[in-house]
Amino acid sequence: MRQNQIPAFQKALLAWYQKNARDLPWRRTKDPYAIWVSEIMLQQTQVKTVIPYYEKWLRQFPTVKRLAESPSETVMNHWAGLGYYRRARMLHQAAQFLSDKKEAVPSELNALMKIPGIGRYTAGAIASIAFEKKVPVLDGNVIRILTRLYAIKEDIGSPKTIKKLWGLAEIILPDKKIGDFNQALMELGATVCFPQSPSCLICPVNSFCDGAKLGPEKFPVKNKKEKAELLETAALILRNKNRLLLEKQPSGGRWGGLWMFPHWRSSKSMLKETGFKEKDLSRRMTVKHGFTKYRITLQVYESSLKSNRKAFGDERHQWIAVSSIKNLPFPAPHQKIVSEILKND
Ligand code: SF4
Repeated sequence: MRQNQIPAFQKALLAWYQKNARDLPWRRTKDPYAIWVSEIMLQQTQVKTVIPYYEKWLRQFPTVKRLAESPSETVMNHWAGLGYYRRARMLHQAAQFLSDKKEAVPSELNALMKIPGIGRYTAGAIASIAFEKKVPVLDGNVIRILTRLYAIKEDIGSPKTIKKLWGLAEIILPDKKIGDFNQALMELGATVCFPQSPSCLICPVNSFCDGAKLGPEKFPVKNKKEKAELLETAALILRNKNRLLLEKQPSGGRWGGLWMFPHWRSSKSMLKETGFKEKDLSRRMTVKHGFTKYRITLQVYESSLKSNRKAFGDERHQWIAVSSIKNLPFPAPHQKIVSEILKND
């Protein structure tokens, strides 16, 4: 796209958004707190999954103050099932940070970026959508659109390319309707400019797009990732009649405040630490998940033997009724174990 095409591009994109924007609950408000909650929930999570959580969250924690004053257990319980629990912890900490200073959600980008858990993208989204500040946003959708519009061949894994893209996201901003414009870019990425098979034929900005002519799927350019490391870990469903042994994770860690089934770095360590023999256990399921560069296979075993006191004797371990586990927050891989138990028990 050329510099002199930008005004026509802005007009076409805004007109398309006005007609085609999905009616989403966070688009009916200018409350910066509500917009902030939606942006955090939408990170790595699909819109249709987020909607019920968003609505329930705002009923339970309608203001920053109410969220700040709520116990972390209640906050985590309201996030249960949405995954990536660090987001809930950071949101809670951020609410406490603002509440301690007796401050409202700020409108300026720099002030927003001082809040724990708010990076440049979220700050830009809140400032532009809630306060109409002329600041850009750059998430995966916007990166894809910009690299296609401008046929950018540099690797998006490089900080230099990302810096260039932030610059372009700023250059294309209109003077008015900034919030709508930024949302229009995200909407175009979510509903037209798909990663694979983008709908270029019906795209409202097709005539400005250099990448569409060259083959849109060539963009963005990503150099090969480092090879994933494979790990095989183990977890145990331990039953005592209709109760299960669960482990509450200490606060501060990656899974702080969440519940997990007892788990180990390998099946071998599990046998060694619990004193179980292989014949005491049955294989219940396999859960595959990824974390940073690791591809993890979690082997889930089951036993109805009573716990080995030495292995499970501390206060982190509790016997919990099967009927109560659906209300507890688990990290995604252990949530799959919960779903399997609830489906079959
Ligand atoms: Fe994306 Fe195609 Fe539209 Fe270009 S023309 S922005 S590649 S959908």
